[in-house]
Amino acid sequence: MQGRTINELRRLQSLSLNQKIDHAVETIEKFCNEVENPVISFSGGKDSTVLMHLVRNIMRTDLPAVFINTGNEYPEIVRFVREFDNVQIIRPKMKLKKNIERYGFPLISKEYSKMVFELRHGAKRSGRYLTGIQLSDGKKTSFILPEKYRFLVNEKFSCSEKCCNFLKKTPTAKLNSITGMMAEESIIRQSAWLRTGCNSFGKRHSKSKPFSVWTNRDIQSYISRFNVRICDLYKDPRIHRTGCMFCGFGAHLETFSRYELLKERYPKLYDYFLNLENNEVTYKEALKRCGVILPGERGYQTNFFGKQDF
Ligand code: SF4
Repeated sequence: MQGRTINELRRLQSLSLNQKIDHAVETIEKFCNEVENPVISFSGGKDSTVLMHLVRNIMRTDLPAVFINTGNEYPEIVRFVREFDNVQIIRPKMKLKKNIERYGFPLISKEYSKMVFELRHGAKRSGRYLTGIQLSDGKKTSFILPEKYRFLVNEKFSCSEKCCNFLKKTPTAKLNSITGMMAEESIIRQSAWLRTGCNSFGKRHSKSKPFSVWTNRDIQSYISRFNVRICDLYKDPRIHRTGCMFCGFGAHLETFSRYELLKERYPKLYDYFLNLENNEVTYKEALKRCGVILPGERGYQTNFFGKQDF
């Protein structure tokens, strides 16, 4: 792909839905022509349901799909996924509880949890997260840990993004997978697109992200236009995400807490997740430390850091 720059990304993001569908089809076709045994990475969420529809109904290709049951998926999602044909369900080797005990809680965001973990463990070049300077070449980096989260480096409990690595990435690492990821979702995803574009081909495995240049609005428009059936969970207007039930990423930004929903629908699971421990600190305590006000607590639905900060 020519000119992978921010300007090019913005240009592609401003294409019409029809053009983006063509772009996605072309991306998937190129990928499938290059790799062996391509599979759709299906999470049961909106984006990957649209991806399944695009591949199976628009392209009319019965590519197999894989779903990773991390152990903290909503039961509705697992039931929805089972309705599809040709979907393999994979379970990660490392259990969630062990992961949390060993590496810490998923807090604030994937990027910041990673920075905190590396700083706590003195990882090579992690100093750049505090100075904003790349140590090797002295250049500036945009990967900086904001002041307001630096307290996490010295907390008794640890936080990290490794939960995602072990529960989601490792089980599919060797697959040539097609995912519904979009560059607009995070700085990490945007940087990945700038490096590799929509398809990245490796010696051991390759990845296709045909929705890289799509936006959430495109997903919604696609669902309406093609009347795509999505998981019943979305019937609850409070639900905007269906990822891991208890994940702390972004929880401090919510005006309506994902934990309220969890407590309301699955009280036993709520207690289980909130009492998981890292270094004798419960997840509940760690979330509170990050400004997440849990349902039933004083000040619930106000926001510790304030939305305007982000
Ligand atoms: S989304 Fe959150 S809870 Fe789920 S695997 Fe990733 S870090 Fe863990």
